[in-house]
Amino acid sequence: MMKESPFTDLPQNDVELTPDKVKDEKEGGPTFHCDLCDAEIVYTIAQAFLPGLSTACVDNTTGDVFQSPGSAAAEIRKEMVEYLMQRSETFVAESVVLDDGLEVQASDHPYDIIAYLIDEFATTKRNLFSRVSEWLLSDKREDKIDDFSQEIEINGFWSIDKREAIVQTLLKNVDLKNEFHCDMKFYSADELAQHVPTCKYRSMTCQNEGCYAKYSISQMENHDSVCPYKMIPCEQKCSASVMRRDMDRHCITVCPLKLVNCPFYSVGCKSAIPQCKIEEHRSSDFHSHLLYILQGIHKEASVEVLRKRVEQLLQELLERRVARDNAKATP
Ligand SMILES: [Zn+2]
Ligand SMILES: [Zn+2]
Ligand SMILES: [Zn+2]
Ligand SMILES: [Zn+2]
Repeated sequence: MMKESPFTDLPQNDVELTPDKVKDEKEGGPTFHCDLCDAEIVYTIAQAFLPGLSTACVDNTTGDVFQSPGSAAAEIRKEMVEYLMQRSETFVAESVVLDDGLEVQASDHPYDIIAYLIDEFATTKRNLFSRVSEWLLSDKREDKIDDFSQEIEINGFWSIDKREAIVQTLLKNVDLKNEFHCDMKFYSADELAQHVPTCKYRSMTCQNEGCYAKYSISQMENHDSVCPYKMIPCEQKCSASVMRRDMDRHCITVCPLKLVNCPFYSVGCKSAIPQCKIEEHRSSDFHSHLLYILQGIHKEASVEVLRKRVEQLLQELLERRVARDNAKATP
């Protein structure tokens, strides 16, 4: 949650970060800028525009018989873009304060900064009626904002492409640590053209089948380590490779190494065995399974007596098999 009061007395530690491109250009420095930004953050911020605009439109027209969120939307969108552009340019020395209810901390993450500015803009658009605290806290307001936000998303009032283009400009203003956009500058268009194919901010689409995530090359490893569509070796170490999103299901269903109860569980064998090893277990634990069965039948008999009986039964079985094999051998 953003704090109500805009800014605190945080030290202005970003003063030296005045964009040097301005200086460079004055001195006839490199004027060809690489414009690439991290595709993922651009998309995420662009998504925050819709609820922001919706909030401003709803709070601006609540209780107004002449206006609806829809009729005010075009004008408010224009104002919102101007507001964000202007505020982001002067944001250099300020810091956003996040208050998650437990602790208050400063953030200089571009997403937090822009989300904060969107919030700030929406607050300026509240009309007299919507400043009443009962309205601000009501579920009806939340519903109206959600509904209108969905409406403008569905009818394409503000396309993602247009929103992303605005975010790219904002990002350059507020990404002071230079984590999400390229700030390389060149003396000629040729040099710039040579740089672009190697820029770590050029975007790529995830190569894992079924995944359409877009991100910059520099984020490739991060994405790959969480991509739900990545094929990874079975966590139970069977020989299969499974999509990350299907791993849990694989492990508790078809995985040959899934642990199951011994078929003789009900008579007393409490072993858990990988399902592919059941036959092996049946033969290796034949003795003890037989003992369990006899114990079930002869409840009063001592284990010693039953063990002997097991030996006897096995001996009989063996003799019968030998006799049968001999019979086959001499027709
Ligand atoms: Zn670049
Ligand atoms: Zn992916
Ligand atoms: Zn497996
Ligand atoms: Zn068993």
